[in-house]
Amino acid sequence: MRAVLMGPPSAGKGTQAARLGTELKVPHISTGDMFRAAIAAGTELGRQARGFMEAGKLVPDEVTMGIVRERLAYEDAQSGFVLDGFPRTIPQAEGLSKILASQGVKLDAVVLIDVPEDELIRRATGRRICQECGRVYHVEWNPPPGDACECGGALVQRKDDSPETVTERLATYRAQTEPLRDYYSVEGSLAVVDGMGDPDEVHRRIVRVLGRCS
Ligand code: ADP
Ligand code: ADP
Repeated sequence: MRAVLMGPPSAGKGTQAARLGTELKVPHISTGDMFRAAIAAGTELGRQARGFMEAGKLVPDEVTMGIVRERLAYEDAQSGFVLDGFPRTIPQAEGLSKILASQGVKLDAVVLIDVPEDELIRRATGRRICQECGRVYHVEWNPPPGDACECGGALVQRKDDSPETVTERLATYRAQTEPLRDYYSVEGSLAVVDGMGDPDEVHRRIVRVLGRCS
């Protein structure tokens, strides 16, 4: 299965993509996680991405395409993947389709997780992530066992989950990513899934639409 999980910031893409990747035994590839890891490791990629991320803007397409092209060439991605948060622009979607065409394959499904804006703000501002293992919690809906992660790691709030930056990320999404809705609708590969309700319920909806695509 080669699937893309799209959706506005904090819609639940990472939560759902991690679970799908495990169940389908394909890698969960999150460009946001790759950028955050690069920042934590102090690499050149991290240096390039940081300012854009902290401002709620997109990292330039050529930088993002470079890391995705590299990642999709790994052995573990040859039999499938769940992409999370990529593509986010039309040029990225075109770039992805070229990479896949060069491998003689194409996407099986693009799933858009739809969540109203007031809920997105609640999900973003309540998100906490483990500094050690990257596990994602929510202070109300998916609280950690105590003050720390299950693995013992410290929990932190993402810098870009402040109310101001969330507003900026939503504006970026509307301007640059929402056009992909039409792009993939025309291609016939888009399925829109209601992202409200608990994560198990949303998961069941996604599995149902993927069942129709495979
Ligand atoms: P994204 O990858 O789209 O930014 P996440 O998967 O990180 O989104 O989810 C954002 C926040 O919302 C996290 O705190 C997560 O625990 C919480 N969350 C995810 N799915 C749901 C859901 N169905 N209901 C309530 N909270 C959710
Ligand atoms: P969310 O979906 O909650 O905004 P992500 O972890 O997917 O969180 O992305 C965090 C930030 O990383 C984005 O606001 C953007 O700056 C950068 N980023 C992630 N994926 C992409 C992408 N495909 N293109 C450009 N920038 C990206």
